Amino acid sequence: MIKAKTSYDQILQLLKSHHTLFQEVIPLIASENIPSPSVREALISDFGNRYAEGWPGERVYAGCSYIDEVESICIELAKKIFNAEFVDVRPISGVVANLVVYSVFAKPNDIMFALSIPCGGHISMGKIDFGGTAGAVRGLKVEYFPYDYDALTIDVDKTKKKIRTMAANNEKPKLAMFGGSVLPFSQPVKELEEAFHEVDAKINYDAAHVSGLIAGNQFQDPLREGADSVTMSTHKTFPGPQHGMVLSWERYADQIKRATFPGLVSNHHLNAVAGVAITLAEMQEFGEVYARQIIKNARALGQALYERGLKVLGEQKGFSESHVLWIDIWEHGDGGKIEGELERANIIVNRNLLPLDIRMGRHYKHPGGIRLGTQEVTRIGMKEEEMDIIAEFIKRVVIDKVPPKTVKKDVLSFRKNYQKAYYCFENATEAYKYVKIR
Ligand SMILES: *Cc1c(COP(=O)(O)O)cnc(C)c1O
Repeated sequence: MIKAKTSYDQILQLLKSHHTLFQEVIPLIASENIPSPSVREALISDFGNRYAEGWPGERVYAGCSYIDEVESICIELAKKIFNAEFVDVRPISGVVANLVVYSVFAKPNDIMFALSIPCGGHISMGKIDFGGTAGAVRGLKVEYFPYDYDALTIDVDKTKKKIRTMAANNEKPKLAMFGGSVLPFSQPVKELEEAFHEVDAKINYDAAHVSGLIAGNQFQDPLREGADSVTMSTHKTFPGPQHGMVLSWERYADQIKRATFPGLVSNHHLNAVAGVAITLAEMQEFGEVYARQIIKNARALGQALYERGLKVLGEQKGFSESHVLWIDIWEHGDGGKIEGELERANIIVNRNLLPLDIRMGRHYKHPGGIRLGTQEVTRIGMKEEEMDIIAEFIKRVVIDKVPPKTVKKDVLSFRKNYQKAYYCFENATEAYKYVKIR
């Protein structure tokens, strides 16, 4: 038997090692970010040990006076920043936010439109066959949006046609789930709003990835384009703690509140709510500049990789209008292999299916692509110039086949200079510093 104290010490040592690792890597996972030091402070506060079921001012627990104030500030800031009539800040993640919307706008066996996973859909929108949340948990029948493989977004005409055909066959969709996990370009919400509403389907936009860009007014604004609700994570381009949120209109407020609690959360992670509130305040101040730089960096990185011979998708549209880049890596090795080689060079990316991968007989473990995101490197102060340096590191590993450990040496010395989080009010503590309070 391993002694209890040995495991205890080992766990704490592993946490510390993880922090050292992240001080030394180039973080390019498109769904991650580093919160500001003030958010990390909120996360270890006593808020994380409390319960506050219900709505601020109507709790079923005592001891919530300060919690109520913070949650009310969070709601007010979110309404303002996202220009939303109603916001529920209690869903504890993006998936839970989606489940709230599925509960409000659809019933089991209803039909929902969503992107397929290879075209950028997320597992939470997935069919029952793949264990996706929509299918396996809520019992929805998922129909895929027709996809425009050149424009890398939803095909408007084919989608309209599909809605009409289905409606004629008495198979009206009840919900359209826009958004996704690989969104280099905006989606045609405005163009399809009428077609969906005509058949009485509701429209949700899953902004898990792009909520920070929306907060900074640099991406499409789904509520203005006809969406009935917007779901999101708060830790991807929105640089907060891991949590979720639903934005909507006053007319759906009661249903959303009830679906969230008592439906989908009991505890709603109050330390994270405080962290979201802090991040909202920081986004009000710095969000526009931050979001703009994220997109500039994505386009610069896309261009720099393309010039070095990598097949970055979406070339004709400038590679990206968001934080994300989709790269066909197949001729250099499958996505899983490339992910591993880059990791050995301290460059953290993820393998990703390409839109046509399944048709090519490829599988998510060995897909044809990788996905990169610029939100975290932007957060730690990098600009276009640094994107060129990162592109060169990637090229040396992927194309030149330089041993990853050789490239790693250069990555380590480059990375030393980017240790603080920017676009926040205070950054005395380094972004990835391990904070010991024992
Ligand atoms: C990341 C993601 C989610 C899930 O968010 P969590 O906060 O991890 O639950 C949902 N939808 C999309 C499109 C995502 O990319």
